Amino acid sequence: MSVETVQASVARLREDKLLKGPLLVNWHAGEPLVLPPDFYRARVKEFAPIEQDGIKVEQSLQTNGVLINDAFCELFQEFEIAVGVSVDGPAFIHDRSRVTRSGASTHAKTEAGIAKLRDHNVSFNAICVLTDFSLNYPDEIYEYFRDVKARALAFNVEEVEGIHKSSSFSACGFADRFRTFLERIWERVEGDGGLIQVREFDDMEARILDHRGRRNGQTTSFVNITVAANGDWSTYCPELLGNSFPDYPSFTLGNVHTGGFLAARQTALYQKLNGDIVAGVDACHHTCEYFDICGGGNPSNKVSENGTLRSTETLNCINRIKMLGDMMMDRIEDRIKAKTELQNLATERPMRRVDETCSSSNARDGFRAHPR
Ligand code: SF4
Repeated sequence: MSVETVQASVARLREDKLLKGPLLVNWHAGEPLVLPPDFYRARVKEFAPIEQDGIKVEQSLQTNGVLINDAFCELFQEFEIAVGVSVDGPAFIHDRSRVTRSGASTHAKTEAGIAKLRDHNVSFNAICVLTDFSLNYPDEIYEYFRDVKARALAFNVEEVEGIHKSSSFSACGFADRFRTFLERIWERVEGDGGLIQVREFDDMEARILDHRGRRNGQTTSFVNITVAANGDWSTYCPELLGNSFPDYPSFTLGNVHTGGFLAARQTALYQKLNGDIVAGVDACHHTCEYFDICGGGNPSNKVSENGTLRSTETLNCINRIKMLGDMMMDRIEDRIKAKTELQNLATERPMRRVDETCSSSNARDGFRAHPR
């Protein structure tokens, strides 16, 4: 992406007054660190006009970690770039899938990159892609991320999306095993007092406890804007840009070099996409009891799995919303129950102490609420 394309993107955001709160800029690509630190230095500073408007800009970048060196760590520190590393756990899991074009393993190189981050005190989040194989190893995966000191962890499952036509989610028994895996991760996280934040748990807990209902940025236009290297852009889910399906040959709504974002609302393509996405959300609203914690799902999953944005349920939502929502409801109820029991115990204790003065039954049972 040229500096001019970054400048044009920033100008369009400001002209259309789309920024009401912090702007999160996520540098995402096949592997963003194949470009040198100076590439980012020249582009990140182009967001200064937005900060001069009083709007905070947060930069983030997702990498496989292989190319992280001292120079990149200095860049991350200089611009406070939040770093996400894609690593699937210990080598025996990671190296089954993450190999070079010639088939060589990459775990050792990723670990070297993580070590560099630690040397420079740059904290990082991790994305761990789960497969049928890795579901067998929740303890090994948890301990790996705890030991490399990941600040937060997110689990992705390969999905039906774009050119990727199959998913682990559709494997027989996968859903039950995914839940068993997550429940074990939950136990380990709780056992360690929440040492690592797990996106799936934190995000779902926040959705459940939020009484206002879900505002879904994936189904609302202009919450997320994805700009391609040539300036083409789309909105809703990032995965839509560049994809095509029989009913949706293109999701490209414009180009930052030739027009503004909001002007695209007048186009037939925007009206078709938005109309179908809204119809899909409405259908979810009327048929799904999980709507309040979901907000109508992910358009990219809907079109990839069902061929239309107007649809409702997907494998992705069965596992990531419905199953996870049920699991987290159980855990939240367990917590409330444990807290209530503790409170009951606390209010019972003084009474028992009083009882001790007039009855010897507690003493006989060996019970001493307040041992003297
Ligand atoms: S969980 Fe699935 S079916 Fe329910 S609202 Fe979300 S996307 Fe729609």
